Amino acid sequence: MINSEDLFASAEKNAAREREAKIAEASAIVNQAGRDVCVECECQIPAARREAAPFAVRCVECQNLHKSERKSR
Ligand SMILES: [Zn+2]
Repeated sequence: MINSEDLFASAEKNAAREREAKIAEASAIVNQAGRDVCVECECQIPAARREAAPFAVRCVECQNLHKSERKSR
């Protein structure tokens, strides 16, 4: 017979593990999105741009260059 306290304890443990995984996942996303420096020219990405495009890793100029480069190919 399963002890209900054990069951509760393992459910608690699972919940804690899930919570930790979610936090790790969220902070990974934040680390990725939270960069404020352009990956191309390493200039500061303006806060307004980061607000408009939280996942942007390039400044406006580099993003435009990137886009037109891809278009011309
Ligand atoms: Zn740039």
